[in-house]
Amino acid sequence: MSLIKKITLSESEIPENWYNIVADMPNKPLPPLHPGTKEPIGPEMLAPLFPMELIRQEVTTDAWVRIPEEVRELYKIWRPTPMFRAYSLEKALGTSSKIYYKYEGVSPAGSHKPNTAVPQAYYNKQEGVKRITTETGAGQWGSALSFACQLFGIECEVYMVKVSYEGKPYRKIMMNTWGAKVHSSPTNHTESGRKILAQDPDSPGSLGIAISEAVERAMQDEGTKYALGSVLNHVLMHQTVIGLESITQLEKAGDLPDIVVAPFGGGSNFAGIAFPFLRFNLTQGKQIRCIAAEPASCPKLTRGVFRYDLGDTVGMTPLLPMYTLGHNFVPAPIHAGGLRYHGAGAIVSQLLNDGLIEAQALKQLECFEAGITFARTEGIIPAPEATHAIATVIREARKADEEGVSKTILFNLCGHGHFDMASYEQYLAGKLVEHEVTQEEILASLAELDTPVIG
Ligand SMILES: *Cc1c(COP(=O)(O)O)cnc(C)c1O
Repeated sequence: MSLIKKITLSESEIPENWYNIVADMPNKPLPPLHPGTKEPIGPEMLAPLFPMELIRQEVTTDAWVRIPEEVRELYKIWRPTPMFRAYSLEKALGTSSKIYYKYEGVSPAGSHKPNTAVPQAYYNKQEGVKRITTETGAGQWGSALSFACQLFGIECEVYMVKVSYEGKPYRKIMMNTWGAKVHSSPTNHTESGRKILAQDPDSPGSLGIAISEAVERAMQDEGTKYALGSVLNHVLMHQTVIGLESITQLEKAGDLPDIVVAPFGGGSNFAGIAFPFLRFNLTQGKQIRCIAAEPASCPKLTRGVFRYDLGDTVGMTPLLPMYTLGHNFVPAPIHAGGLRYHGAGAIVSQLLNDGLIEAQALKQLECFEAGITFARTEGIIPAPEATHAIATVIREARKADEEGVSKTILFNLCGHGHFDMASYEQYLAGKLVEHEVTQEEILASLAELDTPVIG
């Protein structure tokens, strides 16, 4: 009997709507607050930063939001993405569980990020925006937005965290190839950047600082807006094309997962694959476990607190209800750059607080070992971020075997690791070091917070 390895869909099976989990949540996410008055903010405060349609999507409680036809057409460049059954990995593990993965690395930028970059650029274009600013850490989001802006003839200006700018030159050149301007953050052409440089001229930069710079630029200019690649409700919603396609693919395989796993930075690829399955839990009484896999060096979900916090370092953004390690938290320089953000999005934080999703923290050596096992069995070299999901899947498969049960596990292979060879080189040379943040470091960072507490 020949086994089906790759489950594909036709273009007509690209979803027609995004799924908005807020509609089905028992407790809705708490509102963002003004950083000064600490009162809930209205759309007018976000208007200088985002086009009105994205602000509307940020607050809507409709369960389904129609994907514009032009966006669906552009999705066809890389969607529907393939799903695979990981037979070779299963065999190598000797597990009786079934493992499936959805592969988002086939997009032009090599990750799931274009799923939201394209609609965000589309709505900005619709509302006459000429330039979009953003930040990027590892370079995944910056490249996705550069690609999307190019499709719509919008200028793109990226503030790239200095350590990545210097350590990942090819991500920068990729952005330049798609026509974007890339700055090493902190720069001396924003007030936020100058403030940081005055304190520390050799600052390596951070996502929080780069966000402050990009937001400041957008606030100063009428025709310029800002875009965020994770955390916000509309970003998570755009990513649900991943899970919606996965449901159709698993139906073709005659399966439904017991466990869904994804790596977790700000929550967008986790939400993307998990929310459409969580909908079955919330509306049909199913009990699918959804597990977010985060790094032990930046463990906001497993060791952070649920309270209001800023999205950036300088204090340009609204206060969001989030599981956070504190906005001044600077994680160790682990290689999964996309997971080094201090907080989680409001929706995911509420779901975790309500016990509707789970989280696990993993150290980077276990993750790279899992990444190597995956590359040597399934062939695809995963992004360091994605190895957190793979290591979690391996843990869950082993646990099921020990308990004598067989599970169906689906995970999000959210990107390839072709720009991360330096980290694989270090791992293979035995030079990669383990990182786990200490309780003292977490408490010291949280002690600096003077933002509103929840509950
Ligand atoms: C950006 C990124 C992440 C982390 O961000 P989420 O919003 O949590 O998805 C994880 N993996 C890859 C490949 C990324 O590019």
